[in-house]
Amino acid sequence: MTSYPHMLRPLELGFTTLKNRVLMGSMHTNLEERGDWNRVAAFYAARARGGAGLIVTGGMAPNAEGGVFPGASGLFSEEDIAHHRVITDRVHDEGGKIAMQILHAGRYAYGPDCVAPSAIKSPISPFPPTELDEAGIEKQIADIATAAARAREAGYDGVEVMGSEGYFLNQFLVTHTNRREDRWGGSYENRMRLPVEVMKRVRAAVGKDFIVIFRLSMIDLVPNGSTHDEVVQLAQAIEAAGANILNTGIGWHEARVPTIATSVPRAGFAWVTKKLMGKVGIPVITSNRINTPEVAEQLLAEGCADMVSLARPFLADPDFVAKAEAGRADLIAPCIACNQACLDHTFQGKVSSCLVNPRAGHETELVIAPAESPRRIAVVGAGPAGLSCAITAAQRGHAVTLFDQADEIGGQLNMARKVPGKEEFDGLVDWFAAMVKEAGVTLQLGTRADAGALSGFDAVVVATGVLPRDPQIPGQDHPKVLSYVDVLRGDAEVGRRVAVVGAGGIGFDVSEFLVTGKSPTVDLPEWLREWGVTDPDKARSGLAPDGPQPEAPLREVVLLQRKAEKVGKRLGKTTGWIHRAALMLKGVQMKAGVNYERIDDAGLHITRDGKPELIACDTVVLCAGQESLRALADAVEGPEVHVIGGADVAAELDAKRAIDQGVRLAAGL
Ligand code: NAP
Ligand code: SF4
Repeated sequence: MTSYPHMLRPLELGFTTLKNRVLMGSMHTNLEERGDWNRVAAFYAARARGGAGLIVTGGMAPNAEGGVFPGASGLFSEEDIAHHRVITDRVHDEGGKIAMQILHAGRYAYGPDCVAPSAIKSPISPFPPTELDEAGIEKQIADIATAAARAREAGYDGVEVMGSEGYFLNQFLVTHTNRREDRWGGSYENRMRLPVEVMKRVRAAVGKDFIVIFRLSMIDLVPNGSTHDEVVQLAQAIEAAGANILNTGIGWHEARVPTIATSVPRAGFAWVTKKLMGKVGIPVITSNRINTPEVAEQLLAEGCADMVSLARPFLADPDFVAKAEAGRADLIAPCIACNQACLDHTFQGKVSSCLVNPRAGHETELVIAPAESPRRIAVVGAGPAGLSCAITAAQRGHAVTLFDQADEIGGQLNMARKVPGKEEFDGLVDWFAAMVKEAGVTLQLGTRADAGALSGFDAVVVATGVLPRDPQIPGQDHPKVLSYVDVLRGDAEVGRRVAVVGAGGIGFDVSEFLVTGKSPTVDLPEWLREWGVTDPDKARSGLAPDGPQPEAPLREVVLLQRKAEKVGKRLGKTTGWIHRAALMLKGVQMKAGVNYERIDDAGLHITRDGKPELIACDTVVLCAGQESLRALADAVEGPEVHVIGGADVAAELDAKRAIDQGVRLAAGL
């Protein structure tokens, strides 16, 4: 008897059956653009083998002007079709099904040829779009339909027409972006004409027995977006026009509400999808922040949707469904919704991968094969670098002993998990614990491994991490001065007025910790209030008329840095704005370009532009970065010593680099 009866139930579509209710949602991986089709196929085949009920590819452009960026991948020629056949064949060989997403970016296209219903530039692209004329609109519809026909020719089981997230079709639907006065603009009937026409033409192009999903924006979260009644009207028209399945889109990319970041509550928007249930006759999919089989099962059991879409969790673990089926959900590598190796990479033009699973997108290059000759390996330090290295080495057949002087595994992750909005780190540490056991790593906690204890091993991996940097501010031995370690471990009293020295990831985390009481991430109504989201039945687009209403901050915090640049500029591309916005909602003051002069009873004395200033405060928290802790590496004598993680390079250390380095080292040990 499975624990996930609703999730593992097949979905009958008439002409075909999906083997379960789990859709691998579309993600742009930047793999197609590299032209190594074997690598692309290996990526999708691994997810098919891992049991996804239906895979949706990253968005493929229907034409040059609709590509997300110049040169974006699409099915433009016979050669392209042949390339995609490599993917579909491999997925089918693994018993999977795969649909191609057709993504026309409209005014979100990052190129000078972009087109849109009206010539209104988007806030997230520097390129003003050209307003389409009647012939231009007909061309876009025809190109989307042709892309669908080519997808069928390439062996896909279906297509997903991207109609949400503020892309081209979505842009026609709302007056925010559509100011036309012809038959494609004005009344709602006119504004929805384009998506409906596209759906009709796509269906006509592909015939009956082919899956066509329409991804529909259920809550726009931008000014002048759709009402819920309009969403229902569109959904019914899209069904009548021939769609087999409706997928959920939440928020436009330009929305100032986080929709997928780690601080968004799990399944935080499933209630929006639920509002559509019973109003259409075709299956409805819900999405966003669904990252465990338990959450998926609960949503389906509660009737929020007929199917769930998980995207990033399939980067973290291609075997998500297979492990759930086997009753080993504890071994599913959790997506912590950090965006650091997936979306942030996409925006940097790098291949999307995963912080937790560096093999994602690198399946053909980073291979974990059995070791030719098993050896005795000591790993010192059970933070993310040491854990990943130990687990991977043990999976390869080495006899691995993992030492840590602490009584628990996790290293710096144990501090991250204390921060409101970073609850997902709990699951990551739990997963590491399950994997240590499963891989057969010998764990020696509460043990300070010295050079003597390590002498009998064939190889030693030093992953001893970091120490907080000493910023050497005069007066920092004052009792009001604390380190971030004291604060996040809860070992110290913090006053009401606080100066935070250093505005890196940890300065932001500490500020969040200091101003927040109960984490809104585990209290959905509170989170929705904090970000100004309401029922789209009550307010157009789901934006609360009175805006964000955060809880009062617990403390007055001033966050400081020496660099004369925007505070938080170096945080993650797709999440930095959320951290900044969250702190601003809580009244945190941010000061850049400061010099620290001294700390005394009055507070922290700084100068800015040569002028003295006093940050009157009860507590100063030092978050001035870290330095490598690598004394052990110098002390160990042996044939083979490796240094990884923060012990190797402390600057800009994060769990992504630590885990990647640990896995890659272990793959070659
Ligand atoms: P960091 O990102 O390197 O930031 C250190 C901060 O300290 C900077 O703001 C720096 O700014 C300041 N600083 C450096 N030397 C100083 C000195 N001598 N005196 C005073 N201030 C000094 O390090 P972190 O904040 O400790 O974070 C460590 C890593 O953990 C980060 O790189 C990050 O990748 C990861 N992390 C990430 C997140 C996330 O949300 N993605 C969260 C937490 C941690 P100035 O030099 O301009 O003063
Ligand atoms: Fe999830 Fe982070 Fe991995 Fe992206 S990088 S898939 S958000 S864990």
